[in-house]
Order: sequence, then C-alpha cells, then structure tokens
Amino acid sequence: MLPFKLVYSEKYFLPIGEHVFRADKYRMIRERLFGLGAVDESDFLEPQPATESDVMLVHSPYYVNKLMEGSLSAGEELQMEIPFSPQVVDTFFLHAGGSILAAERAVADGMCVNIGGGFHHAFPDHGEGFCMIHDVAIAIRCVQKRKLIQRAMTVDCDVHQGNGTAVIFGGAGTQPGTLPSAHHGSVFGLAGGGIRGRVSAKDVFTISLHQQNNYPLMKPPSSIDVNLPDGCGDSEYLAWLDNALSSGLRQFEPELICYIAGADPFREDQLGGLDLTIDGLKRRDELVFRAARARGIPIMVTFAGGYAIRVEDTVSIHSNTILAAAETFRTVETGIAR
Ligand SMILES: [Zn+2]
Repeated sequence: MLPFKLVYSEKYFLPIGEHVFRADKYRMIRERLFGLGAVDESDFLEPQPATESDVMLVHSPYYVNKLMEGSLSAGEELQMEIPFSPQVVDTFFLHAGGSILAAERAVADGMCVNIGGGFHHAFPDHGEGFCMIHDVAIAIRCVQKRKLIQRAMTVDCDVHQGNGTAVIFGGAGTQPGTLPSAHHGSVFGLAGGGIRGRVSAKDVFTISLHQQNNYPLMKPPSSIDVNLPDGCGDSEYLAWLDNALSSGLRQFEPELICYIAGADPFREDQLGGLDLTIDGLKRRDELVFRAARARGIPIMVTFAGGYAIRVEDTVSIHSNTILAAAETFRTVETGIAR
C-alpha cells in the first residue's frame, strides 16, 4: 500500500487508433505496479470528468463549445495531431477531472499522482501537440477557486516545452527579469544550453526544462525556461534541474507543485533528442520530490509524453516515478531540509 493515492480510470485510454502516442500506456503502468507488488486496489481513486465550467476556468467558451459541438475546423484538428471524436473529448475531460482530484488530494495528503494528464500544449483557444485541454492548468484554477491554495508552481520535465502552460499563466503581472545565475550557455559548461528566467509576482510560477531544438518551434516564455542542447545526458540534466528548482523556489513560495513528469527525455524516445537513461529519469523524479517534500510543499504529478521505441520503457519510466514518489515520501521527513 502506498502512502498516497493514485488517480486512474480504465477510461483514460484515448481512442485515437494507431499513433505514436500509446494511449494504452496508462493501463500498462497500472499493471506494472501490480506486477511489482508496489500497489493494491485501495491505492486507487476513480476520477469524475471535469465539468464544462471547470474547463472554462482556462479555456475560452468559444473553444469549449466547438469541442462539445464537434465543430473544429480541419485545420484545428490537424494542429491537435489526434483525430477528433466525442469520445476523445470525453476522455480529455476525464483526465482533467483526474488532475483536479490529484491536486485536491495532494493538498490534503502531501502527494498524489494522476496516471494520466500532463497535456501541456493545450492553449486557451485551441489544442495542439496531442493535447486538447490543459488538465494541469484547469486543476490549478479549480483548487485556487475553491480556496485550497493561492500559489502554484509547475515543474515541467517533458522533453517538449510547456508552451500552453506558459501562455495560460503568462501575461499580466509578469516582469521580465534575469535570474542571478542565468546566462545563455554554460552554467554547467554546456554548449548550446540556456536558462532564461522572469521574476514574477504572479500566482502561478512556471518552470520548463526541455530540448531547445524540438517542438514547439515558438516557445512563449515560462517563468524559467531551461533550453537544453541536443544529446544532453543524465548528469548535465540533473544539474540544470537542480539549478532551476533552487532558483524557482528562491523566488516563489508555492502551496502546490504540479510536476509534469514526461517520459520523453529518454535516450530512445522517438520524439525526443536528449540522452537520459531510465535510471537518470528516476533520479530526476527523486530530485523534484525531495525538493518539494523537504520544504513541506504538496506535490501532484501528471505523466505527459513518452514515445520510447519500446513501450515497455515508457511504462518503466512512468512506473519509476511512482516508486520514486513512494520512496521519497517514506524517507524524507516533510518540512526538514536535508
Ligand atoms: Zn513531450
């Protein structure tokens, strides 16, 4: 039995046919965890779909109506890169409901993982990059509206930049600035990498570590963007992550961290160009969890991308995130920095 809950539904499977996005990975993660003897049935919570009014805390009524009516243009469907159907809409609403539940439970319990979600390329008025609606942003706005928290931080470790997150939480109240340690290039001697920061007085602080030479072409500014060079490996990645987390948590005191734990920085990912190992990705997870736990900050997790040549590797990476969460939760006493 885990010391926190996992949110999952059999209906998380996205009916999108043959696709590089393996929508059966969610079920396989659950099966893997049972196979390892790491979980039992009592660890799981079944989500309810987000409501239209939840979704409209982030997305424009015009866009939500188009989804409900099925009136996206061919161009809009193409930009989403997944086939539209009412069933796909229902599935995204269920993932968003799962992220809302995970955020609520994280605030209550200190940690919660949604075995789904992380659709960080969805914008207020359109979807793209396999993402229809932004479940994490919806979850943040819901728990803020319910006055469970005021300030949240997103930590996005998917290989692709969180462009939707940056746009949703950017804008008003943001003052462009530079981190004390930030300059393009070589904090850790990396050629081609870069960290860019914006000092913020907003209620949501956004951190994204991603491969610079990858989708999305246009990268709207997050609070902190770490633009990683092609082929970045474990040690460099972990050093950049440590630096970004330290910088972010010096500038901003979140009451909830939303960790977007993409599996696609993996060296054998079909849509990524970084060079992380499965072990390195688990150490990445541990770094994020320890940073949150040591400061007593609740953390909710979503899974985002993962397109390894062998789907079993994607499943291993995501399952390891849950194992790392459990190990950290059990071993790092909350609120005591170490
Ligand atoms: Zn991705």
